[in-house]
Amino acid sequence: MLEQQEEKKRTSFERYKLKQALEVLEKKKGFHTELVSLYIPPDRQISDVTNYLKQEYGTSSNIKSKSTRKNVMDAIQKLLALLKNVPKPPPTGLVIFCGAIPTNGQGTERMEMTTIVPPEPIKIYKYHCDNQFFLDPLKEMLVEKETYALIVIDRSEADFAILKGNHLEILKKITSGAPGKHHAGGQSQRRFERLIEQAGHEFFKRAGEYANELFLQIPDLKGLLIGGPGPSKDKFAESNYVDYRLKNAILGIVDISYTGSSGIDELIDKSKDILQNVRYSEEKSLVQKFLTMLVKDDSLVTYGEKQVRKALDQGAVDTLLLSEDLDILHVTISCPNCNYKEEVTIKKSELPPLEQKIQNKSCPKCTSSLLSIETIKPIIDELGELAERTGANVEVISSETEEGQQLKQAFGGIAALLRYSLNN
Ligand SMILES: [Zn+2]
Repeated sequence: MLEQQEEKKRTSFERYKLKQALEVLEKKKGFHTELVSLYIPPDRQISDVTNYLKQEYGTSSNIKSKSTRKNVMDAIQKLLALLKNVPKPPPTGLVIFCGAIPTNGQGTERMEMTTIVPPEPIKIYKYHCDNQFFLDPLKEMLVEKETYALIVIDRSEADFAILKGNHLEILKKITSGAPGKHHAGGQSQRRFERLIEQAGHEFFKRAGEYANELFLQIPDLKGLLIGGPGPSKDKFAESNYVDYRLKNAILGIVDISYTGSSGIDELIDKSKDILQNVRYSEEKSLVQKFLTMLVKDDSLVTYGEKQVRKALDQGAVDTLLLSEDLDILHVTISCPNCNYKEEVTIKKSELPPLEQKIQNKSCPKCTSSLLSIETIKPIIDELGELAERTGANVEVISSETEEGQQLKQAFGGIAALLRYSLNN
């Protein structure tokens, strides 16, 4: 169980890295059918793969175009050389992309190779040669399929939403236009109550029809949660207003104080146990934990790049929280002449002026003109990898939740839960 939990905790960073890698690979185009994608599932013998590649190498010697032939054969050779050092595929398999990528028009191709150990096991074995890389099976891994349907309802309003991965979507709001609770006068009390009941029935019927229309078509519906203030939600859930398939999918009927989008939020918050594996709920809980600790004992949390880096360096971080859309880069500048090294953190937009500046600057230690930028890394990758090396959990948090937005706006998108207080 613990092992399983640890494995799950690693995945938000892995998923982030996979997403980034796919974005880069997607943009790469070859001139001809000469970019090779190789998918090796975990149970495949490497010797099978190399035998297959050798065969492909032979076949590709028949390619008519001289440059395509050379590029394909070079790519296969590179794959073979890499696989020599791989005794067997990692537990989730291995994916390799290799090909000649043009840098600036025909004849400027440079052989590039990217290897990816996927976050989930690959099921297919595939050798694919095209003018772009074949990314679908990996993209598929990033698609969240499990969907939860949400309804908050009272006698005057109903809201419908779906929760999928880290994304919440409010689909529809309907109102009953029912007469108010108070007797308007003129009619008899009984007649008035009957009218209210009739209007309530009509409204629930309409809400049920919307629920069927919106939710029955969802292919991977995991369940339905219904919330609302007062007894309306129970009546709605327990009668046959929704299709029996949706009724069977009800996971919880929850008492909440509001309708509308605050009601939806409250429904999610109060269904934490049911939604504990849904990323949206996970992200909320992680940031809430940070905020609660900040109020209770702020020596066990820290935030901001400088403070978090300090805690990471001391191995004191238990869980690192990073906002997914931080556009901050970590840049190392070095001098190959005297080994001078400098690290700076800049916004993405500040990179071109920095590059310009470094080009015209001499080394502050030995005055050599060889001073140059050595590495450029998104801060999420840099801090995430640093955290992984110290055994910390890395959580990449989207801005989909209010808590996620708070992490980004109020805490600079970098925060940490600590293993022990740093103040002593
Ligand atoms: Zn120097």
